[in-house]
Amino acid sequence: MDELDIFIGGQWRRGGGNLMHSQFPADGAINAALHAASLDDLQEAIDCADRAWREPTWRAMLPHQRAKILHKVADLIEAQLDELTQKQSRDNGKPLAEARGLVMSAAGTARYFAAACELLEGELPTPRQADLLTLSRYEPLGVVAAITPWNSPIASEMQKVAPAIAAGNAVILKPAEATPLMALELAKIFEQAGLPAGLLSVLPGKGSIIGDALARHPKVRKISFTGGTTTGRHLAHVAAEKLIPASLELGGKSPTIVLEDADIEQAARGICYGIFSSGGQACIAGSRLFVHDKVYPQLMARLLELTQGLRVGHPFSAGTHVGPLINDKHRQSVLEYVELAKREGGSVLCGGEIPADPALAAGSYFLPTIIEGLNNQARVCQEEIFGPVLVAMRFHDEAALIREANDSVFGLAAGIWTRDTGRALRLSEQLEAGTVWINTYKVFSISTPFGGFKESGLGREKGIQGLKAWMQQKSIYLATGN
Ligand code: NAD
Repeated sequence: MDELDIFIGGQWRRGGGNLMHSQFPADGAINAALHAASLDDLQEAIDCADRAWREPTWRAMLPHQRAKILHKVADLIEAQLDELTQKQSRDNGKPLAEARGLVMSAAGTARYFAAACELLEGELPTPRQADLLTLSRYEPLGVVAAITPWNSPIASEMQKVAPAIAAGNAVILKPAEATPLMALELAKIFEQAGLPAGLLSVLPGKGSIIGDALARHPKVRKISFTGGTTTGRHLAHVAAEKLIPASLELGGKSPTIVLEDADIEQAARGICYGIFSSGGQACIAGSRLFVHDKVYPQLMARLLELTQGLRVGHPFSAGTHVGPLINDKHRQSVLEYVELAKREGGSVLCGGEIPADPALAAGSYFLPTIIEGLNNQARVCQEEIFGPVLVAMRFHDEAALIREANDSVFGLAAGIWTRDTGRALRLSEQLEAGTVWINTYKVFSISTPFGGFKESGLGREKGIQGLKAWMQQKSIYLATGN
Protein backbone atom coordinates (compact mmCIF):
# COMPACT_ATOMS: atom_id res chain seq x y z
CA MET A 1 0.00 0.00 0.00
CA ASP A 2 1.26 3.50 -0.84
CA GLU A 3 2.26 5.75 2.02
CA LEU A 4 1.86 9.29 0.82
CA ASP A 5 3.91 12.33 1.62
CA ILE A 6 2.15 15.60 2.25
CA PHE A 7 3.06 18.99 0.76
CA ILE A 8 4.47 21.49 3.25
CA GLY A 9 5.86 24.79 2.01
CA GLY A 10 6.97 23.36 -1.35
CA GLN A 11 8.42 20.11 0.07
CA TRP A 12 7.00 16.60 -0.14
CA ARG A 13 7.58 14.75 3.10
CA ARG A 14 5.97 12.61 5.74
CA GLY A 15 3.63 14.56 8.01
CA GLY A 16 4.55 14.75 11.68
CA GLY A 17 1.03 13.81 12.89
CA ASN A 18 -0.95 10.59 13.33
CA LEU A 19 -1.29 7.87 10.72
CA MET A 20 -4.50 8.27 8.68
CA HIS A 21 -6.04 6.46 5.72
CA SER A 22 -8.05 7.03 2.59
CA GLN A 23 -10.55 4.17 2.28
CA PHE A 24 -12.62 3.05 -0.72
CA PRO A 25 -16.26 3.31 0.44
CA ALA A 26 -17.24 0.57 -2.05
CA ASP A 27 -15.41 -2.18 -0.18
CA GLY A 28 -13.48 -0.65 2.72
CA ALA A 29 -10.10 -1.30 1.02
CA ILE A 30 -7.36 1.11 2.06
CA ASN A 31 -6.37 3.32 -0.88
CA ALA A 32 -3.42 4.95 0.82
CA ALA A 33 -1.93 5.69 4.20
CA LEU A 34 -0.38 8.98 5.19
CA HIS A 35 0.69 10.86 8.27
CA ALA A 36 -1.39 13.91 9.09
CA ALA A 37 0.27 17.31 9.38
CA SER A 38 1.49 18.19 12.86
CA LEU A 39 1.26 21.62 14.44
CA ASP A 40 4.97 22.10 13.61
CA ASP A 41 4.21 21.28 9.96
CA LEU A 42 1.45 23.87 10.07
CA GLN A 43 3.79 26.52 11.45
CA GLU A 44 6.35 25.75 8.78
CA ALA A 45 3.76 25.86 5.99
CA ILE A 46 2.49 29.20 7.25
CA ASP A 47 5.98 30.70 7.54
CA CYS A 48 6.78 29.59 3.98
CA ALA A 49 3.44 30.91 2.75
CA ASP A 50 4.05 34.25 4.43
CA ARG A 51 7.45 34.58 2.71
CA ALA A 52 6.13 33.33 -0.61
CA TRP A 53 3.22 35.76 -1.06
CA ARG A 54 5.45 38.72 -0.10
CA GLU A 55 8.14 37.64 -2.55
CA PRO A 56 8.58 40.59 -4.99
CA THR A 57 8.57 38.36 -8.08
CA TRP A 58 5.19 36.88 -7.08
CA ARG A 59 3.74 40.26 -6.07
CA ALA A 60 4.90 41.79 -9.34
CA MET A 61 3.83 38.85 -11.48
CA LEU A 62 1.50 40.17 -14.16
CA PRO A 63 -2.01 38.73 -14.38
CA HIS A 64 -1.32 36.97 -17.67
CA GLN A 65 1.65 35.19 -16.08
CA ARG A 66 -0.47 33.98 -13.16
CA ALA A 67 -3.12 33.02 -15.67
CA LYS A 68 -0.55 30.93 -17.51
CA ILE A 69 0.04 28.84 -14.39
CA LEU A 70 -3.69 28.27 -13.98
CA HIS A 71 -4.12 27.32 -17.64
CA LYS A 72 -1.26 24.86 -17.24
CA VAL A 73 -3.02 23.43 -14.17
CA ALA A 74 -6.16 22.93 -16.28
CA ASP A 75 -4.12 21.30 -19.08
CA LEU A 76 -2.50 18.89 -16.61
CA ILE A 77 -5.87 17.97 -15.10
CA GLU A 78 -7.33 17.29 -18.54
CA ALA A 79 -4.29 15.21 -19.53
CA GLN A 80 -4.84 12.98 -16.46
CA LEU A 81 -8.61 12.95 -16.57
CA ASP A 82 -8.98 9.16 -16.31
CA GLU A 83 -6.43 8.67 -13.50
CA LEU A 84 -7.83 11.58 -11.49
CA THR A 85 -11.39 10.35 -12.02
CA GLN A 86 -10.49 6.90 -10.68
CA LYS A 87 -8.68 8.39 -7.72
CA GLN A 88 -11.55 10.76 -6.92
CA SER A 89 -13.94 7.84 -7.07
CA ARG A 90 -11.78 5.65 -4.84
CA ASP A 91 -11.44 8.46 -2.32
CA ASN A 92 -15.16 9.09 -1.78
CA GLY A 93 -17.10 6.42 -3.68
CA LYS A 94 -18.73 8.57 -6.36
CA PRO A 95 -19.69 6.67 -9.53
CA LEU A 96 -17.12 7.28 -12.26
CA ALA A 97 -19.41 9.47 -14.38
CA GLU A 98 -19.96 11.84 -11.46
CA ALA A 99 -16.31 11.82 -10.44
CA ARG A 100 -15.36 12.63 -14.02
CA GLY A 101 -17.71 15.61 -13.98
CA LEU A 102 -16.04 16.91 -10.83
CA VAL A 103 -12.55 16.56 -12.29
CA MET A 104 -13.59 18.35 -15.47
CA SER A 105 -15.22 21.09 -13.46
CA ALA A 106 -11.94 21.59 -11.54
CA ALA A 107 -10.15 22.17 -14.86
CA GLY A 108 -12.88 24.60 -15.92
CA THR A 109 -12.60 26.49 -12.63
CA ALA A 110 -8.84 26.91 -13.10
CA ARG A 111 -9.43 28.30 -16.61
CA TYR A 112 -12.20 30.62 -15.44
CA PHE A 113 -10.05 32.20 -12.73
CA ALA A 114 -7.12 32.42 -15.15
CA ALA A 115 -9.36 34.56 -17.35
CA ALA A 116 -10.89 36.42 -14.41
CA CYS A 117 -7.55 37.55 -13.03
CA GLU A 118 -6.70 39.06 -16.41
CA LEU A 119 -10.03 40.87 -16.51
CA LEU A 120 -9.95 42.20 -12.95
CA GLU A 121 -9.79 45.96 -12.93
CA GLY A 122 -9.39 48.51 -10.20
CA GLU A 123 -11.62 51.56 -10.05
CA LEU A 124 -11.08 55.22 -10.75
CA PRO A 125 -13.84 56.92 -8.75
CA THR A 126 -14.71 60.50 -9.63
CA PRO A 127 -13.61 62.50 -6.58
CA ARG A 128 -16.06 64.86 -4.95
CA GLN A 129 -13.28 67.29 -4.15
CA ALA A 130 -11.27 69.31 -6.62
CA ASP A 131 -7.56 68.69 -7.27
CA LEU A 132 -7.65 65.02 -6.39
CA LEU A 133 -7.26 61.82 -8.30
CA THR A 134 -8.42 58.72 -6.43
CA LEU A 135 -7.74 55.14 -7.40
CA SER A 136 -9.00 51.98 -5.81
CA ARG A 137 -7.08 48.78 -6.43
CA TYR A 138 -7.52 45.15 -5.38
CA GLU A 139 -4.67 43.53 -3.48
CA PRO A 140 -4.17 40.02 -2.10
CA LEU A 141 -4.95 39.27 1.54
CA GLY A 142 -1.77 37.27 2.21
CA VAL A 143 -1.87 33.81 3.79
CA VAL A 144 -5.34 32.29 3.49
CA ALA A 145 -6.94 29.06 4.73
CA ALA A 146 -9.13 26.73 2.64
CA ILE A 147 -10.96 23.98 4.58
CA THR A 148 -13.01 21.48 2.58
CA PRO A 149 -15.48 18.59 3.07
CA TRP A 150 -15.43 15.06 1.66
CA ASN A 151 -18.36 15.07 -0.71
CA SER A 152 -16.91 16.73 -3.85
CA PRO A 153 -13.22 17.13 -3.02
CA ILE A 154 -11.48 18.16 -6.24
CA ALA A 155 -14.24 20.58 -7.22
CA SER A 156 -14.60 22.31 -3.86
CA GLU A 157 -10.83 22.46 -3.43
CA MET A 158 -10.25 24.04 -6.83
CA GLN A 159 -13.10 26.48 -6.17
CA LYS A 160 -10.98 27.90 -3.36
CA VAL A 161 -7.39 27.38 -4.48
CA ALA A 162 -7.78 28.77 -8.04
CA PRO A 163 -9.25 32.17 -7.09
CA ALA A 164 -6.98 32.46 -4.05
CA ILE A 165 -3.88 31.97 -6.22
CA ALA A 166 -5.27 34.09 -9.07
CA ALA A 167 -5.67 36.87 -6.50
CA GLY A 168 -2.02 36.60 -5.45
CA ASN A 169 -2.40 34.89 -2.07
CA ALA A 170 -0.63 31.91 -0.54
CA VAL A 171 -3.08 29.11 0.39
CA ILE A 172 -3.00 26.45 3.07
CA LEU A 173 -5.50 23.74 2.08
CA LYS A 174 -6.88 21.41 4.76
CA PRO A 175 -8.88 18.61 3.11
CA ALA A 176 -11.44 16.45 4.95
CA GLU A 177 -10.05 13.54 7.01
CA ALA A 178 -11.83 10.98 4.82
CA THR A 179 -10.66 12.35 1.47
CA PRO A 180 -7.08 13.63 1.38
CA LEU A 181 -6.14 12.26 -2.06
CA MET A 182 -7.36 14.90 -4.47
CA ALA A 183 -5.90 17.80 -2.51
CA LEU A 184 -2.49 16.10 -2.69
CA GLU A 185 -2.98 15.52 -6.43
CA LEU A 186 -3.79 19.20 -6.83
CA ALA A 187 -0.59 20.11 -5.00
CA LYS A 188 1.41 17.98 -7.48
CA ILE A 189 -0.37 19.60 -10.39
CA PHE A 190 0.18 23.18 -9.19
CA GLU A 191 3.83 22.35 -8.54
CA GLN A 192 4.25 20.92 -12.07
CA ALA A 193 2.49 23.94 -13.49
CA GLY A 194 5.21 26.16 -12.04
CA LEU A 195 3.54 27.68 -8.99
CA PRO A 196 6.39 29.08 -6.86
CA ALA A 197 7.12 27.05 -3.70
CA GLY A 198 5.27 27.97 -0.53
CA LEU A 199 2.19 29.40 -2.26
CA LEU A 200 0.26 26.17 -1.76
CA SER A 201 0.56 23.69 1.10
CA VAL A 202 -1.76 20.74 1.66
CA LEU A 203 -2.14 19.70 5.29
CA PRO A 204 -4.38 16.67 5.84
CA GLY A 205 -5.44 16.01 9.40
CA LYS A 206 -8.22 16.23 11.94
CA GLY A 207 -10.43 19.28 11.67
CA SER A 208 -10.51 19.89 15.41
CA ILE A 209 -6.69 19.89 15.55
CA ILE A 210 -5.07 21.03 12.34
CA GLY A 211 -8.12 22.80 10.85
CA ASP A 212 -8.74 24.68 14.07
CA ALA A 213 -5.07 25.68 14.53
CA LEU A 214 -4.95 26.82 10.90
CA ALA A 215 -8.02 29.02 11.30
CA ARG A 216 -6.73 30.50 14.57
CA HIS A 217 -3.21 31.18 13.35
CA PRO A 218 -2.48 34.92 13.59
CA LYS A 219 -0.92 35.03 10.12
CA VAL A 220 -4.00 33.58 8.41
CA ARG A 221 -5.99 36.48 6.92
CA LYS A 222 -9.07 34.70 5.58
CA ILE A 223 -10.93 31.47 6.28
CA SER A 224 -12.78 29.92 3.37
CA PHE A 225 -14.76 26.95 4.60
CA THR A 226 -17.13 24.45 3.03
CA GLY A 227 -18.73 21.93 5.36
CA GLY A 228 -21.34 21.51 8.05
CA THR A 229 -23.17 24.39 9.74
CA THR A 230 -21.88 23.52 13.23
CA THR A 231 -18.25 23.71 12.12
CA GLY A 232 -19.05 26.82 10.07
CA ARG A 233 -20.51 28.57 13.10
CA HIS A 234 -17.40 27.71 15.12
CA LEU A 235 -15.13 29.10 12.39
CA ALA A 236 -17.25 32.26 12.17
CA HIS A 237 -16.47 32.84 15.87
CA VAL A 238 -12.77 32.29 15.24
CA ALA A 239 -12.84 34.75 12.33
CA ALA A 240 -14.80 37.32 14.36
CA GLU A 241 -12.25 37.13 17.17
CA LYS A 242 -9.43 37.76 14.68
CA LEU A 243 -11.44 40.30 12.64
CA ILE A 244 -10.77 38.47 9.40
CA PRO A 245 -13.21 37.60 6.60
CA ALA A 246 -14.83 34.19 6.60
CA SER A 247 -16.54 32.66 3.62
CA LEU A 248 -18.84 29.84 4.70
CA GLU A 249 -20.53 27.35 2.36
CA LEU A 250 -22.68 25.24 4.68
CA GLY A 251 -25.50 22.75 4.85
CA GLY A 252 -28.91 22.72 3.23
CA LYS A 253 -32.43 21.24 3.24
CA SER A 254 -33.55 22.45 -0.13
CA PRO A 255 -37.21 22.47 -1.22
CA THR A 256 -38.25 21.35 -4.70
CA ILE A 257 -41.69 22.50 -5.81
CA VAL A 258 -43.88 20.89 -8.47
CA LEU A 259 -46.71 23.18 -9.64
CA GLU A 260 -49.92 21.81 -11.14
CA ASP A 261 -48.87 22.61 -14.73
CA ALA A 262 -45.41 21.03 -14.59
CA ASP A 263 -44.11 18.63 -17.23
CA ILE A 264 -44.40 15.56 -15.00
CA GLU A 265 -41.81 13.45 -16.79
CA GLN A 266 -39.22 16.24 -16.77
CA ALA A 267 -39.97 17.09 -13.13
CA ALA A 268 -39.76 13.47 -11.94
CA ARG A 269 -36.40 12.98 -13.66
CA GLY A 270 -35.03 16.26 -12.33
CA ILE A 271 -36.20 15.52 -8.77
CA CYS A 272 -34.67 12.04 -8.92
CA TYR A 273 -31.33 13.46 -10.05
CA GLY A 274 -31.52 16.36 -7.58
CA ILE A 275 -31.78 14.11 -4.54
CA PHE A 276 -30.19 10.78 -5.49
CA SER A 277 -27.08 11.81 -7.45
CA SER A 278 -24.02 11.59 -5.17
CA GLY A 279 -26.21 9.36 -2.97
CA GLY A 280 -27.78 12.56 -1.63
CA GLN A 281 -24.44 13.60 -0.16
CA ALA A 282 -24.70 17.08 -1.62
CA CYS A 283 -25.28 20.35 0.20
CA ILE A 284 -27.76 21.32 -2.53
CA ALA A 285 -29.64 18.00 -2.59
CA GLY A 286 -33.34 18.67 -3.17
CA SER A 287 -34.42 16.78 -0.06
CA ARG A 288 -37.87 18.31 0.62
CA LEU A 289 -40.44 17.83 -2.14
CA PHE A 290 -43.65 19.90 -2.32
CA VAL A 291 -46.11 18.67 -4.95
CA HIS A 292 -49.42 20.30 -5.89
CA ASP A 293 -52.40 18.18 -4.83
CA LYS A 294 -53.67 17.91 -8.40
CA VAL A 295 -50.54 16.21 -9.73
CA TYR A 296 -49.34 14.45 -6.55
CA PRO A 297 -50.53 10.92 -7.50
CA GLN A 298 -49.18 11.15 -11.05
CA LEU A 299 -45.84 12.70 -10.10
CA MET A 300 -45.27 10.33 -7.19
CA ALA A 301 -46.07 7.25 -9.28
CA ARG A 302 -43.49 8.23 -11.90
CA LEU A 303 -40.92 9.31 -9.31
CA LEU A 304 -41.28 6.01 -7.49
CA GLU A 305 -40.85 4.09 -10.72
CA LEU A 306 -37.70 6.05 -11.62
CA THR A 307 -36.26 5.70 -8.12
CA GLN A 308 -36.84 1.95 -8.00
CA GLY A 309 -35.11 1.74 -11.38
CA LEU A 310 -31.93 3.39 -10.12
CA ARG A 311 -29.00 1.00 -10.09
CA VAL A 312 -27.21 1.04 -6.74
CA GLY A 313 -23.80 -0.42 -7.32
CA HIS A 314 -20.06 -0.33 -7.44
CA PRO A 315 -18.77 3.11 -8.48
CA PHE A 316 -16.65 1.52 -11.23
CA SER A 317 -19.49 -0.55 -12.78
CA ALA A 318 -20.99 0.81 -15.97
CA GLY A 319 -24.58 1.85 -15.40
CA THR A 320 -24.27 2.55 -11.67
CA HIS A 321 -26.45 5.49 -10.70
CA VAL A 322 -25.93 5.50 -6.94
CA GLY A 323 -22.65 4.54 -5.30
CA PRO A 324 -21.91 3.91 -1.62
CA LEU A 325 -22.10 6.51 1.13
CA ILE A 326 -18.81 7.80 2.46
CA ASN A 327 -18.55 5.25 5.33
CA ASP A 328 -20.57 2.99 7.63
CA LYS A 329 -20.80 5.58 10.40
CA HIS A 330 -22.48 8.04 8.05
CA ARG A 331 -24.76 5.29 6.70
CA GLN A 332 -25.83 4.51 10.26
CA SER A 333 -26.83 8.13 10.78
CA VAL A 334 -28.91 8.04 7.53
CA LEU A 335 -30.59 4.82 8.70
CA GLU A 336 -31.40 6.41 12.07
CA TYR A 337 -33.10 9.31 10.28
CA VAL A 338 -35.31 6.84 8.39
CA GLU A 339 -36.24 5.15 11.69
CA LEU A 340 -37.00 8.57 13.15
CA ALA A 341 -39.23 9.41 10.16
CA LYS A 342 -41.21 6.20 10.78
CA ARG A 343 -41.61 7.07 14.47
CA GLU A 344 -42.78 10.55 13.44
CA GLY A 345 -45.55 8.92 11.35
CA GLY A 346 -43.94 8.79 7.91
CA SER A 347 -44.48 5.96 5.41
CA VAL A 348 -41.47 4.66 3.53
CA LEU A 349 -42.50 4.28 -0.13
CA CYS A 350 -39.21 2.76 -1.25
CA GLY A 351 -35.73 2.04 0.09
CA GLY A 352 -35.14 2.93 3.71
CA GLU A 353 -32.63 0.15 4.19
CA ILE A 354 -29.29 -1.35 3.29
CA PRO A 355 -29.44 -3.27 -0.02
CA ALA A 356 -29.71 -7.04 0.36
CA ASP A 357 -27.40 -7.77 -2.64
CA PRO A 358 -24.43 -9.76 -1.22
CA ALA A 359 -22.16 -8.18 -3.86
CA LEU A 360 -22.64 -4.86 -2.06
CA ALA A 361 -22.18 -6.18 1.49
CA ALA A 362 -18.65 -4.83 1.94
CA GLY A 363 -19.54 -1.24 1.00
CA SER A 364 -21.49 1.52 2.75
CA TYR A 365 -24.50 1.31 0.42
CA PHE A 366 -28.01 2.58 1.16
CA LEU A 367 -31.10 2.34 -1.01
CA PRO A 368 -32.67 5.50 -2.46
CA THR A 369 -35.53 6.31 -0.12
CA ILE A 370 -38.79 8.21 -0.47
CA ILE A 371 -40.92 9.01 2.56
CA GLU A 372 -44.40 10.59 2.64
CA GLY A 373 -47.06 11.34 5.22
CA LEU A 374 -45.07 13.91 7.21
CA ASN A 375 -45.36 17.66 7.43
CA ASN A 376 -42.56 20.19 7.23
CA GLN A 377 -42.26 20.33 11.03
CA ALA A 378 -40.94 16.74 11.17
CA ARG A 379 -37.27 16.52 12.15
CA VAL A 380 -36.44 14.77 8.89
CA CYS A 381 -37.73 17.86 7.09
CA GLN A 382 -35.80 20.26 9.27
CA GLU A 383 -32.41 18.54 9.69
CA GLU A 384 -29.86 17.81 6.98
CA ILE A 385 -29.63 14.02 6.46
CA PHE A 386 -26.96 14.23 3.72
CA GLY A 387 -28.03 10.92 2.24
CA PRO A 388 -30.44 9.47 -0.37
CA VAL A 389 -33.63 10.37 1.50
CA LEU A 390 -36.45 12.43 0.00
CA VAL A 391 -39.49 13.54 1.99
CA ALA A 392 -42.55 14.27 -0.20
CA MET A 393 -45.36 16.60 0.91
CA ARG A 394 -48.54 17.95 -0.74
CA PHE A 395 -49.70 21.55 -1.11
CA HIS A 396 -52.61 23.37 -2.70
CA ASP A 397 -52.20 26.97 -1.63
CA GLU A 398 -49.31 29.07 -2.97
CA ALA A 399 -48.94 31.35 0.06
CA ALA A 400 -48.84 28.36 2.43
CA LEU A 401 -46.36 26.63 0.12
CA ILE A 402 -43.94 29.57 0.28
CA ARG A 403 -44.24 29.72 4.08
CA GLU A 404 -43.47 26.00 4.37
CA ALA A 405 -40.65 26.04 1.83
CA ASN A 406 -39.04 28.92 3.72
CA ASP A 407 -39.67 27.34 7.11
CA SER A 408 -36.12 26.06 7.54
CA VAL A 409 -32.96 27.33 9.19
CA PHE A 410 -31.24 26.61 5.87
CA GLY A 411 -31.46 28.58 2.63
CA LEU A 412 -29.07 27.06 0.15
CA ALA A 413 -31.12 26.12 -2.93
CA ALA A 414 -34.61 25.50 -4.26
CA GLY A 415 -36.20 24.06 -7.39
CA ILE A 416 -39.44 24.92 -9.21
CA TRP A 417 -41.07 22.79 -11.92
CA THR A 418 -43.73 24.53 -14.01
CA ARG A 419 -44.57 25.57 -17.58
CA ASP A 420 -45.46 29.06 -16.33
CA THR A 421 -42.12 30.84 -16.27
CA GLY A 422 -43.60 34.15 -15.11
CA ARG A 423 -45.05 32.43 -12.05
CA ALA A 424 -41.77 30.61 -11.50
CA LEU A 425 -39.86 33.88 -11.50
CA ARG A 426 -42.34 35.41 -9.06
CA LEU A 427 -42.02 32.43 -6.73
CA SER A 428 -38.23 32.39 -7.04
CA GLU A 429 -38.16 35.93 -5.64
CA GLN A 430 -40.09 34.76 -2.58
CA LEU A 431 -37.93 31.74 -1.83
CA GLU A 432 -35.21 32.19 0.79
CA ALA A 433 -32.40 30.44 -1.06
CA GLY A 434 -29.05 31.41 -2.54
CA THR A 435 -29.81 29.50 -5.77
CA VAL A 436 -33.18 28.77 -7.40
CA TRP A 437 -33.39 26.35 -10.32
CA ILE A 438 -36.43 26.54 -12.63
CA ASN A 439 -37.16 23.40 -14.68
CA THR A 440 -33.70 22.09 -13.94
CA TYR A 441 -31.74 21.21 -10.83
CA LYS A 442 -28.13 20.92 -9.64
CA VAL A 443 -26.57 22.51 -12.70
CA PHE A 444 -23.82 25.07 -12.29
CA SER A 445 -22.08 27.84 -14.12
CA ILE A 446 -18.72 28.97 -12.77
CA SER A 447 -19.51 32.59 -13.63
CA THR A 448 -22.66 32.60 -11.46
CA PRO A 449 -22.19 33.34 -7.75
CA PHE A 450 -22.96 30.48 -5.37
CA GLY A 451 -23.68 30.57 -1.64
CA GLY A 452 -26.36 30.30 0.99
CA PHE A 453 -29.01 32.37 2.73
CA LYS A 454 -29.56 31.99 6.50
CA GLU A 455 -27.61 29.12 8.13
CA SER A 456 -26.47 27.83 4.74
CA GLY A 457 -23.62 30.25 4.70
CA LEU A 458 -21.99 33.62 4.29
CA GLY A 459 -20.35 35.07 1.21
CA ARG A 460 -20.31 33.85 -2.38
CA GLU A 461 -17.91 31.73 -4.39
CA LYS A 462 -17.57 31.73 -8.22
CA GLY A 463 -17.91 34.67 -10.58
CA ILE A 464 -15.73 37.78 -10.59
CA GLN A 465 -16.85 38.54 -7.05
CA GLY A 466 -15.55 35.09 -6.10
CA LEU A 467 -12.11 36.40 -7.06
CA LYS A 468 -12.54 39.75 -5.29
CA ALA A 469 -13.55 37.82 -2.16
CA TRP A 470 -9.88 36.79 -1.89
CA MET A 471 -8.67 40.39 -2.09
CA GLN A 472 -8.83 43.64 -0.18
CA GLN A 473 -9.40 47.06 -1.66
CA LYS A 474 -6.93 49.91 -1.26
CA SER A 475 -7.80 53.50 -2.14
CA ILE A 476 -5.05 55.90 -3.09
CA TYR A 477 -5.47 59.68 -3.14
CA LEU A 478 -3.21 61.75 -5.35
CA ALA A 479 -3.29 65.54 -5.00
CA THR A 480 -3.28 67.08 -8.43
CA GLY A 481 -3.30 70.76 -7.28
CA ASN A 482 -0.93 72.67 -5.01
P1 NAD B 1 -17.51 19.07 8.49
O1 NAD B 1 -17.99 20.42 8.89
O2 NAD B 1 -17.52 17.99 9.48
O3 NAD B 1 -16.01 19.13 7.95
C1 NAD B 1 -15.61 19.99 6.90
C2 NAD B 1 -14.14 20.32 7.05
O4 NAD B 1 -13.96 21.05 8.26
C3 NAD B 1 -13.24 19.09 7.14
O5 NAD B 1 -12.03 19.34 6.48
C4 NAD B 1 -13.01 18.98 8.64
O6 NAD B 1 -11.82 18.31 8.96
C5 NAD B 1 -12.93 20.45 9.03
N1 NAD B 1 -13.19 20.73 10.45
C6 NAD B 1 -13.97 20.02 11.30
N2 NAD B 1 -13.94 20.60 12.54
C7 NAD B 1 -13.14 21.69 12.44
C8 NAD B 1 -12.72 22.69 13.36
N3 NAD B 1 -13.10 22.69 14.64
N4 NAD B 1 -11.91 23.67 12.91
C9 NAD B 1 -11.52 23.71 11.61
N5 NAD B 1 -11.86 22.78 10.71
C10 NAD B 1 -12.68 21.78 11.10
O7 NAD B 1 -18.36 18.68 7.19
P2 NAD B 1 -18.30 17.32 6.37
O8 NAD B 1 -19.01 16.28 7.15
O9 NAD B 1 -16.92 17.07 5.89
O10 NAD B 1 -19.16 17.73 5.08
C11 NAD B 1 -20.53 17.64 5.03
C12 NAD B 1 -21.17 19.00 5.23
O11 NAD B 1 -20.66 19.92 4.27
C13 NAD B 1 -22.66 18.99 4.99
O12 NAD B 1 -23.30 19.72 6.00
C14 NAD B 1 -22.82 19.69 3.65
O13 NAD B 1 -24.06 20.29 3.46
C15 NAD B 1 -21.71 20.67 3.69
N6 NAD B 1 -21.34 21.12 2.34
C16 NAD B 1 -21.67 22.39 1.95
C17 NAD B 1 -21.38 22.82 0.66
C18 NAD B 1 -21.75 24.21 0.19
O14 NAD B 1 -21.17 24.66 -0.80
N7 NAD B 1 -22.67 24.91 0.84
C19 NAD B 1 -20.74 21.97 -0.24
C20 NAD B 1 -20.41 20.67 0.20
C21 NAD B 1 -20.73 20.27 1.50
